[in-house]
Amino acid sequence: MTSVPPRSRRLSSIPLDNLWPHLPHAVLALTELEQDEMYPLLTATAIPRYLEEATAFGREAATNESDDGDLTRLFNRIIQSGVRVRLIEQNGAKGNGWIRAQYHRKPPTIDVYRSSMEQLEQFFAKCGYRVAEEDLIALHLYHEWFHHLESTRLGRTDYRLPKVRKKKWGPLVFRQRVYRLREIAAHAFTQEAMGLTWSPLWLDHLLLLTEKGWTKSQIREHFQFLHQKYQKITESDREART
Ligand SMILES: [Zn+2]
Repeated sequence: MTSVPPRSRRLSSIPLDNLWPHLPHAVLALTELEQDEMYPLLTATAIPRYLEEATAFGREAATNESDDGDLTRLFNRIIQSGVRVRLIEQNGAKGNGWIRAQYHRKPPTIDVYRSSMEQLEQFFAKCGYRVAEEDLIALHLYHEWFHHLESTRLGRTDYRLPKVRKKKWGPLVFRQRVYRLREIAAHAFTQEAMGLTWSPLWLDHLLLLTEKGWTKSQIREHFQFLHQKYQKITESDREART
């Protein structure tokens, strides 16, 4: 008996949100912000504002984008914006994490790791879908291209929001940018550009947790915990305002 491989599908047509426990965008954005060195110094009032503004910035930057699945066209646009793209065959693993793709500013280069694509392919296969490879490449490209656009046309996301007071040393006050805001915006940009109903950041969480061997109900529980944490912050923000 021969089995016919399933026809590949566009990423935007895969109802991932029906298959896995959901996590709203703001909660996902919070998990990203929490990894910033400045996060413990942000006030409860500042957190929702930082999350919303970074997300809105990424989304707005994608207003004129509408990915049609034509990877050659996307490649050409990226190249015309002054970036070279490399597909890296070696494993993107580094330390105890892995890299999907990277943007280097000098010279402007986007590296996409083949290993990341394979990992995504396997994840979707387990969900019962074969995804168009072009879409998996585009998913990486949009994210990294956004970082290039930030550096050239749009201005950096972290520059749009106030620096956070880091420490006071005598009369001097040190302030630092919240770098992770750039990631939140890049994910929002990618989601919008590719017309996805779910955030690429959510997909990252699912990949990480399923690779650890977590079950669906463990993931659901974990997501509920993250959701509650987010609600606590927004509640204390509301209390602070009243
Ligand atoms: Zn990034």
